[in-house]
Amino acid sequence: MNITIENKYLQNTYKRLGWLVVLVPTIGTLLGLGLLLQFGISSWEIWLLVGMYFLTALGLEVGFHRYFSHHAFQTTTTIRIILAILGSMAAGGGVVYWAAHHRRHHQYADRPGDVHSPYVTATSGIGNRLGGLWHAHVGWIFQGEISNSMLFAKDLLRDPIIVKINQLHLVWVALGLLIPAVIGGMITATWSGVWGGLLWGGLVRIFLVHHFIWSTNSICHAFGSRPFVTGDRSTNNLWLALPTLGQSWHNNHHAFPNSAIVGLHWWQIDLGAWVIRALETMGLVWNVKRPKPTAIESKKIKQ
Ligand SMILES: [Zn+2]
Ligand SMILES: [Zn+2]
Repeated sequence: MNITIENKYLQNTYKRLGWLVVLVPTIGTLLGLGLLLQFGISSWEIWLLVGMYFLTALGLEVGFHRYFSHHAFQTTTTIRIILAILGSMAAGGGVVYWAAHHRRHHQYADRPGDVHSPYVTATSGIGNRLGGLWHAHVGWIFQGEISNSMLFAKDLLRDPIIVKINQLHLVWVALGLLIPAVIGGMITATWSGVWGGLLWGGLVRIFLVHHFIWSTNSICHAFGSRPFVTGDRSTNNLWLALPTLGQSWHNNHHAFPNSAIVGLHWWQIDLGAWVIRALETMGLVWNVKRPKPTAIESKKIKQ
């Protein structure tokens, strides 16, 4: 079975969609910056941006990534649905597409076959460093590659609820734009409030979520520390820990991919793990996977 789907029509459609999901939030963000410099920003717009950022990044990192891609914990049907919908609102593709790409990334990490490695490009073999970083960050999206979900995400395709949510993923993207627009309208009772909500809670938020999440594919495979033996070039980066909800401890993650907890020390901020632990305390999440201290010790690079 091929690791990618060889269908020119589908690939071209994904290429076009890729341009759209990258360019529209970028244009929105440039517009937002212009307005910010001229008129400033209201406190409700900042709160809407932060709130929508946190919820949709949580859907991606805790939902799409730790739960759907790695089965790092178990949870209730309601929470699975909420996580799948919130993750879809981040406009990074449906949950099946996302998990298939991500599992392929782990299987081939930084070797030929990895969809977004800074060291391997789909067309030119080993790329130069800057070209490789560009490819790992965003360039791979424009190539329209589709990882074979029959090979990488068969378990998700067997789940009728997840298949339905996946089919409707453009509806969730639209909802992720509509909700902040409606909230902006309700707060201010003006059309400019609707626009402000759409801009900051929608487009700027998607832009920021995109680039911080993509930075784990680019920066966290190029710069930073490598405490563990992983067989790839993944790294840990403190400065990205907060916006990536803990995923920037990416070398830890490649060492223990099925662990629900990515920050392995008290000082390794991991907001995703905090949420999982809180849900575990409430009994809404169980079988939370954590690496054993002996496993952590045995994978450490000896000085
Ligand atoms: Zn990685
Ligand atoms: Zn992963």
